[in-house]
Amino acid sequence: MSIFQTPDFDQHELVAYCVDESVGLKAIIAIHNTHRGPALGGCRIWQYANEDEATRDALRLSRGMTYKAALANLNLGGGKAVIIADPKTPRSPEMLQAFGRFVDRFNGSYITAEDVGTSPQDMAEIQKGTSHVVGLETNGGSGDPSIVTAFGVYQGIKGSAFHRYGTDSLSGIKVALQGLGHVGMYLAERLHKEGAILTVTDINVENVNKVVEKYGATAVKPEDIYGVDCNIFSPCALGGIINDDTIPQFKCQIIAGASNNQLLNRSHGDILMQKGILYAPDYLINAGGLINVSYEGPNYDKEIVMAHVAGLRDTLLEIFQTAEEQKISTSAASDQIAENRFKVV
Ligand code: NAD
Repeated sequence: MSIFQTPDFDQHELVAYCVDESVGLKAIIAIHNTHRGPALGGCRIWQYANEDEATRDALRLSRGMTYKAALANLNLGGGKAVIIADPKTPRSPEMLQAFGRFVDRFNGSYITAEDVGTSPQDMAEIQKGTSHVVGLETNGGSGDPSIVTAFGVYQGIKGSAFHRYGTDSLSGIKVALQGLGHVGMYLAERLHKEGAILTVTDINVENVNKVVEKYGATAVKPEDIYGVDCNIFSPCALGGIINDDTIPQFKCQIIAGASNNQLLNRSHGDILMQKGILYAPDYLINAGGLINVSYEGPNYDKEIVMAHVAGLRDTLLEIFQTAEEQKISTSAASDQIAENRFKVV
């Protein structure tokens, strides 16, 4: 099938297949849309089953970045790169540098960053081939994005509570938190400080014990988190967890979390609406990490970054209002608002 006919192709501006046999590099760089600015998106290293699967991922993820950047009011477009390799085997510096040189050919219309399977150390290696890279730990680098992402999710939770309950106080609000990794751990701390009552899960028992001890959380098994009787379910582990199996189990009124691609299909956004569950679109409230790297440079100022991230709450309230007025799901409303911001009329 030609790439133009694949279901994930959505008027992408450019898709490049990058090969350097001498260093074992096979990568795809997809630029979805640059109407608002250069395409920024991470470089993922993953052992895809085949090249079609890698292409699909690059197409889907780069499109998602366009929507995320537009909703976050950034002058950026959407792009993504995937390197086809086993993320668990050490990658050679030469391979990363060669990837950097491919990125450099785009003259800044694609900017790469850390993603699943890559680290700040990998970015430093890629930087030897291009200056169009962010997510570095050196001077002017923006540091750990998870703190900023957690802050955005926290703002999303407060905005959702305000819309649903008329107050954004989280005192006594019951939150079921799935995933206590980088983002989930910071989020648990913020929620606890505000008096939220936490029920948590993770496949990593150490993380669970930490949150139980520090914040008096109740632990449940990973498969039981969906059915917890709570106000807010906050997914901070996996994608695709809002689906035909989990929706009937939900006893929450709000879903607001950090995970990417929480809805398995677009239709699941509509089902949530029919069930009366308020869904805070993931790619809006988890945009803190993207906002953070977008400010990277010699004038990086954490306070300015946090003020920008706090503004996600206003966009969220606009989405909720649009959804109500048009009687559409919040996920459909957020796509619509994002499209209005990046599509050239
Ligand atoms: P992480 O890998 O640090 O944490 C994920 C946690 O989920 C881990 O503790 C893991 O043990 C747990 N987990 C995995 N499978 C699970 C299961 N079946 N049940 C319960 N827990 C399970 O990742 P993170 O950086 O904290 O990111 C969390 C989510 O937010 C991811 O989906 C990520 O894509 C998304 N996200 C993160 C950022 C960021 O800045 N880190 C930005 C945007 C989106």
